[in-house]
Order: sequence, then structure tokens, then C-alpha cells
Amino acid sequence: MTRPEAAALASRGPASTALTNAFADRTAVVTGAAGFIGSHLCERLLDLGAEVIGVDNLLTGRLDNLSSLRSAGGFDLRADDVTHPFAVTGPVDFVFHLASPASPVDYARHPLATLKVGAFGTLNAVELAQAKGARFLLASTSEVYGDPLEHPQAEQYWGHVNPIGPRSVYDEAKRYAEALTSCFQRSGSANTRIVRIFNTYGPRMRADDGRAVPAFIQQALSGTLITVAGDGSQTRSLCYVADTVEGLLAAAAHDHTGPVNIGNPHEITVLQLAEEIRAMTGSASAVAFVPLPVDDPKRRCPDITNALTHLGWKPTTALRDGLRQTLDWVRQNPVDQTGTAPAAAGGDAR
Ligand code: NAD
Repeated sequence: MTRPEAAALASRGPASTALTNAFADRTAVVTGAAGFIGSHLCERLLDLGAEVIGVDNLLTGRLDNLSSLRSAGGFDLRADDVTHPFAVTGPVDFVFHLASPASPVDYARHPLATLKVGAFGTLNAVELAQAKGARFLLASTSEVYGDPLEHPQAEQYWGHVNPIGPRSVYDEAKRYAEALTSCFQRSGSANTRIVRIFNTYGPRMRADDGRAVPAFIQQALSGTLITVAGDGSQTRSLCYVADTVEGLLAAAAHDHTGPVNIGNPHEITVLQLAEEIRAMTGSASAVAFVPLPVDDPKRRCPDITNALTHLGWKPTTALRDGLRQTLDWVRQNPVDQTGTAPAAAGGDAR
């Protein structure tokens, strides 16, 4: 698709018109560009007419995620580790900071790298935004709420996090990243936004990243046991990646500094998710129950009042439609998916 065609496509609705106005002919740096959400964000920014500079060290991302973009005009990929200061030449209007392992399997595999990217990576990214006079957006997470004692989770809730548990490398790194971002915003050093992303799913999730949607799909398609953590009664609220990306863009384009929850308030149990995927694939796989991971959140559901009020954003993709698109992608990308067995396919859909 050419840039004008993409811009025409992007201007179909009022929300898209506002986003085209915000991002066309602007330059955006996206850290974590080769990851699941980052690659979709880069694609959408290019559709909106932005120039995009992706930065990624491929710790958990894949070049394949960017294969259609790397030949497109307006996209450049830098193989940098953002825990070290990195320079970008020329003007920059937006810095989207997504670099970080995000699945429990990944951050258990890379605990120090996760802490470092939350701390040094965020510092370097926000300092880049400061130096360029660019708007900075931190991709934070619902994990800052930990195993929440309030339900649904609204932004004013401070959370219930175990600071020394195995998940703390991620949860506390993101809480620190929020503190750092807020410090820059409060002092007037940088113009920042904080978005707390809830469980997101869609094409390009790795089959072996341990999150429930790709794990259940892989198990259902291969006819192996669908492994549900605990008794499967823990809940998740799943947001389709295209909706999440629209939320990130809306947050970057609006004045509301956040934090703002971006997620889908439609809550289902992990067992219901497994059964839905089994039905959609026509799989004969049985469900097996495995131990719950330590500190696994029992309920997870965003209050998106702020996103609706301040950004005019809400998710629009029904779970069945999003799962259908994810399933289609998995079927069309067997090379990516086979050979990577799902890790301890738990109940965590993050
Ligand atoms: P992902 O693992 O697919 O992508 C993360 C990307 O960051 C990868 O490409 C990885 O190589 C890159 N990266 C990691 N450390 C880096 C470093 N030091 N320097 C440069 N690049 C580095 O994860 P994702 O699911 O796309 O998540 C993206 C962001 O969104 C993360 O910050 C995550 O915390 C946040 N988030 C995601 C979800 C979700 O459901 N996927 C939920 C909440 C928050």
C-alpha cells in the first residue's frame, strides 16, 4: 500500500481523521518495534503517514514481525539495546517506549534484562524525548495493580504487588518506569503519557511465550492437552491488538497525561477461554489442570472510564472476531508456530 492510499484508508472515520492529523508527517521512535504490539503500532503509524524509527535488540521480538515494513518507505530499524543511551538524528515528535519482555515466561527467562529495560531503558527513552522536545508515551501494564484487591481496576488504585516475588522483576520495573515518567512530567522536563495496557492478544504472539491465547491455540491445533492453570476460574479481560494500538495512539495524541487503562472490560475465565478456542478450532484436545504460577492474579478487568472520557477510546473487536483473526494468522504462519512448543501453558493471558 502506498503512503497516500494508507492515509486515505486511515481517514475513514472521525477517530482516524484525528489520528491522521496527529501523526501524518511526524516522526515517531518506537522502542520494542520488533515485538508483538510494537510491530502493529509501527504498521499503524506508517498507515497514518508518520515516519517511524524502530529500536529493538530482538531480545523477545522477531525481524519477521517487521518483514512487510522493512521494505516500505518511511520505516527504519535500529538494532540498539535501549538500556544504553541511544541517539537518533533529526527531529522526533513522539517516543513510544514499548521495549520490555512482557510475558511471564520471557521475564522469568530474562529477569535482569527486564529490570534494566524498565529502569535504564525508560530513562534513556524519556531523555531522548526530552532532548528532542518529543511527546513520550510509556507502555505500562495492568501488572502495576499486582493481584488486585479492587475490582475492576481503576487508575487511582495503587495496587497489590509482591515486591520480591518472581513476577516483581516485571511489575516493579514498570512501577519504577511510571515513577520516572511522572517525575519528568511533574518537573516539566518532558511531556509524557502513561498507558496501562491490559492483556492483549492477536497475530504475531509467539507460540512459546507462555500466554494463554497462543498456548491454547497451539495446543488445540496440535491435538495435545490444553493446560489450564489452577481450576481455570481466574479471570482475564482480553483486548485485540488493533484496539490496543488505537488506544496507544489516542493517548499519545490527547492532552490527558494519564495513567490511563487501555484494555477490554469484557471479562472471562481462563477455562472459558480454553473452551472457546477448543470449539473454534474443532479440536478434540482435553483440558488438563496444572498448578497456578506464584502470585498469579485472580481477577483482572480494567475500568476504562478514563479512556472513554479523556480519549474517546474503547475497544471495538469482539473476542470471537479477534480470536478468529488470530487463528487465521496462526494457520497462515505454520513455520513460525511449529517447532516452538508452548511453554508451561498456564492461565496467564498477559
Ligand atoms: P514483546 O516481547 O513481543 O515485545 C517487546 C519488544 O521489546 C521485543 O521486540 C524485544 O526484543 C524488545 N526489547 C526488550 N528489551 C529491549 C532492550 N533492552 N532494547 C531494545 N529492545 C528491547 O512484548 P509485547 O507483548 O509486544 O509488549 C510490548 C510492551 O507492552 C511491553 O512494554 C509490555 O510491558 C507492554 N504490555 C504488553 C501487554 C500484552 O498483553 N502484550 C500487556 C501489558 C503491557
